[in-house]
Parts: sequence; structure tokens; C-alpha cells
Amino acid sequence: MTKQTHAFQAEVQQILHLVTHSLYSNKEIFLRELISNASDACDKLRYEALAKPELLEDAPDLAIHVAYDAEARTLTISDNGIGMSEAEAAANLGTIAKSGTREFMAALESDQKKDANLIGQFGVGFYSGFIVADRITVESRRAGLPANHGVRWASDGTGEYELEAITRAGRGTDVILHLREDEAEFLSSWKLRSIIGKYSDHIALPVLMQAETWDTEKSAYVKGEGWDPVNKAAALWTRPKSEITEAEYVAFYEQISHDSQPPLAYTHNRVEGRSEYTQLLYIPAKAPFDLWNRDSRGGVKLYVKRVFIMDDAEALMPVYLRFVKGVIDSADLPLNVSRELLQESRDVRAIREGSTKRVLAMLEGLADSDSDDDKAKYQTFWNGFGAVLKEGLGEDFQNQERLAKLLRFASTHADEGVSLAGYVSRMKEGQDTLYYITADSLAAAKSSPQLEVFRKKGIEVLLLTDRVDEWMLSHLHEFEGHALQSVAKGAVDLGTLQDEAEKQQAEAASEALKPLLERLKTTLAGRAKDVRVTTRLVDSPACVVVDDGAMSAHLARLLKQAGQGQPGDASLPILEINPEHALVKRLESDARFDDLANILLDGALLAEGGQLEDPAAHVARVNRVLLG
Ligand code: ADP
Repeated sequence: MTKQTHAFQAEVQQILHLVTHSLYSNKEIFLRELISNASDACDKLRYEALAKPELLEDAPDLAIHVAYDAEARTLTISDNGIGMSEAEAAANLGTIAKSGTREFMAALESDQKKDANLIGQFGVGFYSGFIVADRITVESRRAGLPANHGVRWASDGTGEYELEAITRAGRGTDVILHLREDEAEFLSSWKLRSIIGKYSDHIALPVLMQAETWDTEKSAYVKGEGWDPVNKAAALWTRPKSEITEAEYVAFYEQISHDSQPPLAYTHNRVEGRSEYTQLLYIPAKAPFDLWNRDSRGGVKLYVKRVFIMDDAEALMPVYLRFVKGVIDSADLPLNVSRELLQESRDVRAIREGSTKRVLAMLEGLADSDSDDDKAKYQTFWNGFGAVLKEGLGEDFQNQERLAKLLRFASTHADEGVSLAGYVSRMKEGQDTLYYITADSLAAAKSSPQLEVFRKKGIEVLLLTDRVDEWMLSHLHEFEGHALQSVAKGAVDLGTLQDEAEKQQAEAASEALKPLLERLKTTLAGRAKDVRVTTRLVDSPACVVVDDGAMSAHLARLLKQAGQGQPGDASLPILEINPEHALVKRLESDARFDDLANILLDGALLAEGGQLEDPAAHVARVNRVLLG
């Protein structure tokens, strides 16, 4: 068979263009990515060989070799793992199966440092080779195929790649980088060893480099016989905790997460009992680009008795903890465990429950710590992942109470970091309810007229601005025996927080204003469901609220934006008026009653962050009133 030329998929071309033109910091990570691919290939072989031992041929010892040739200016990363057939080489190195190219581009655009780490995070690590190479040749043979079914893939990283059938005795893959003119620094044993030590120390396979000795005559290192291991080659999580340094834990995290920022916290335990397993779990500092994709792959790798089984074992972690990275190594699961089996296994359920508790304990450790450093870490965690954790309140009823304690909000007391327990500790004498308001933004929440009476009485109100808040609150009805109540729903009942005189005054006002209320109702029919007097306002003339059981105006808006608006009267607000306000007092006797009534409602809708159905009509009314 002869050489064939193929064009890269458009996404690959885009990525290659970016890789070769804009990644300049941390470019040495290409070596980590290629070693990581080699290690994955060995893991895959080991796994397939469980069922088909003949795949190991006569070379059961798996290893990765890194070699360079200063004269030829090449750097070669070799593994005797699973290898690729010709079709696999075309598919794996010519197309991108995963979505996310657009996110990758966007992340790169916004990243000032143009950090090459990004490429690994997006699962396109192979292409990082083109940061330092102007040509890459890959020679491979899939385990199990005959020697004459090898493949050579080659490309200069622009639009095309070549494929050619070759004969290759050994299974596995060589990735040969033809280094660019100005990348000669990688043609050094010392440099390569230090990069491998920095990024790949915890690869569980030996990474080998040719021994070198000092030749006094030549005054240079010359390559000797034999190959030395450069890394520790022991799976980190299998070593005793007491022998692992903080730096090693962090380096392992960087290796499995492709994240250049150290994790906020980690936990490493050997669990014995109903189910026996080791867990090493990390909380990242920064959210990955695909955090919002609930289908994105999880970050926990499953091993069984140190054999790698799968990368994205969703069954090991609840969806709301999908940001957790790490490794779980089970001693009980069968080596041939499948995804389907994982979903049903009792052992897996025990692991998931145990791991969930560990992660929550880790978060509590930060949140409840006395150290300012830990508290700051928790705030960082919350800013990045809080909205994801909130999903847990509706998904994990078993841990709902613990999760509720981890929640942080803004409130009228502080702009961030308000916990429900903190709120409870500041409750007023006689207050038994936690009050909140939902809005599109913090500014809108803060200026909401519904807060006026609470401000006046010094009662704290939680200001909720996350999209998931409404949904979360439909699952969380109380905290430590205190109900959670929206200040924008139903009539305000401040209970014992309101004194008798105030209540009587309000009732009297209601009585006296009955004719006005009736008139407003008629005028605003079709725009407001009801009109009533309220005590919740201090400075504003009016506000809109919804019924107790109804969807909040904020949620109704979100649904409408998503094309799921409700028809008819169901979504109409209730207009509440402030009997003490000058505008309301004047309304009754004013000849422009119609215009003023509508303007009052428009103003209340706008103040609450809503939009007017007919803004032009509003402008016309205001203009008429201004003209007198
Ligand atoms: P990722 O490793 O995240 O899938 P890469 O761009 O690094 O993305 O690699 C693309 C694919 O190419 C891999 O998923 C794998 O199937 C294949 N591949 C890369 N390197 C090797 C290798 N050394 N041996 C076998 N297959 C490999």
C-alpha cells in the first residue's frame, strides 16, 4: 500500500493553528501529555489483556521509553501499549471526537498567559507536540494485529497528514517529534529528566531513559548501555500516607487533572469494611470549561487492584460532585466490571456513599476552619463550584442537611459568604423564619422595594441571584427548624416582628382604601391579578408580588426566556400599594387616574427587574402625565 494524504477535520486544523501560533507559556507540558497518552495506552492494553492474555505477546512488561537524537534533532516517546490500527490512527489523530473545540478557543482567547496546559484540559494533548515540533511521525501497531499491519502517520501540523502501512515487529507506539530550530533545549538528558520528574513522576509505569556517562576525552556526556528509570513508577495512592509529601500529592493532582493550579484540598484514605478500597480525591481551585455540562466526564478514575479500568466512572460520584478529581482503587470489584455493572453494584454504591461523605467532610474542613487561609479557600471553592453543589440539595436527600450548612449567599448583611447558620445566629428576637429574595442580579435584589420593611426593622434578607436558587429552594424548605420564606411571595406576615399598632393601622388603611383598591383592580384588569394594601413598603409607592404557592416573577422570567412561559392570568402579579405614600394618597382625586395607575404598576414591575410588555405605551403615559 502506498502513502495516502488526508486532510485534518476542520476543528483539528483550528486547534493546530492555535497550538502552533499562540501557546507560549509552559510549553514543556507537551512531554507530560505524550507520556500520559503512552501510559493510557499501556493501561488499555493491560485491561484488554485480562480477557485476552495473548495480546501481551512476548512482552508482558509495560514501559515507556524517552530518547533523543541530537544530530537528527528528534525526540521519541515510545510505549508498548495497545497501539493503533491504521483506521484508529486516522480517527484518533485526525479528528476530535469530543465536543468542546469552541470552548477551547474561547478559553485560549481569554487566557493572558496562553498556557499550554489548556490543551491537556481539553483532551487534545497529542497536538501539543506541535508546540515544539514542526513535524511529527507516529509509528504504531495495534496489539493483536500481525506485524505487517503497522501504520505510519506523519504531519507537519498544518492542513494534512499522511498515512502509510508499515511492518512493525513490536506492538505499541513511537511518537517521533522533529523539533523546531529554536527548541534544541529539549535535546538534553538533564532537561528531559527534570521535566519528567516534574510532571510525570507518578505515572505508574517506568519511564526509562538511556543511561549516560561523562566522557572526559570528549568533555561531554555519551550514551551508555542500558536504560534507567526516571520516575518513581509506583502508583501514588498505593503508598502509605506518611511517606507522601505535600508536593507529591500536588504533582499527582496536576498530572491527572492537567490543571496548573494546586488543588484546594485533598483526602487520601484506605477504607476497610463492607467494601474495601482506596480513595485519593481532590477539590480543584478553578472550574473547568465544561463544568456546566452535566454529561461531561467525571474526574474520578476507577482502578481495580491497581489495574486501570476506566476514566470517567460517573457511578462513583454523584453528579453534583462532578468537579472532584482523583482515583478510586477497589479491592472487591471484578476486573471485568462494565459500566452497566457499576450502576447496579452494591459495592459501588458503598464507595459512592463513602466518597461523597469524604468530599463533604473536606469541604466542611475548609468552611468551618478557624484559619483565614482555609476560609479564603472555601470562598474560592464556593465562587467556582457553589452553584453545582446546590444541585445536591435536590439530588442527595441523605446529605441535604450537611449540604445546607455548606451553602453561602449574599444578604443584606454582607455581599458574600453568608451561611444559613450565620443568618440564624443573627435572627431578631421573635423571628422564626429565614427571609430571602430572588433576583437577576445582586444590584436588582438590593434595590428591590420588597426589602424596605425588612431594612427598616433590621431583619436580614438573603439575596439569591443564581439560576439554580429557585430550584434548590423548591427542595429545601427549612433550615434547623426554621422555614425559608420569600419576601416577594404572599402577603408579608412578619408575625411577632410587627407590633399591634402597625397591624391595626394596616387594617384600617385597607378598610379606608377599599374603593380605591376596587377602582385600581378594574383599571388594571388583565395586567394585575389583584390589588391590595401592604405594610412591606416604606419609601416606594407600590410593588408586585406573587401568590404564596406561585412561581416567583424571577423564575417566570427565566422560563419565559427559555420559551416556557405560562399563558393567561396565572403569571399575572399582585400589585401591592403603600397607603402612606404621597402618590397613593393623591391617586384617588386625580383626573389622570388611568395613567397614574398604570404608571404605578409599570414602576413596580421595573423596580423588581421585570420588563414591560408594552414599553411604548408606558412612555406615552409618562409623557401625558408630564405635560399635565
Ligand atoms: P486524549 O488522550 O485526551 O483522548 P489526545 O489528543 O492526547 O487526546 O489523543 C487522542 C487519541 O489518540 C487518544 O484518545 C488515543 O486513542 C490515541 N493515542 C494517542 N497517543 C496514543 C498512544 N501512545 N498509543 C495509542 N493510542 C494513542
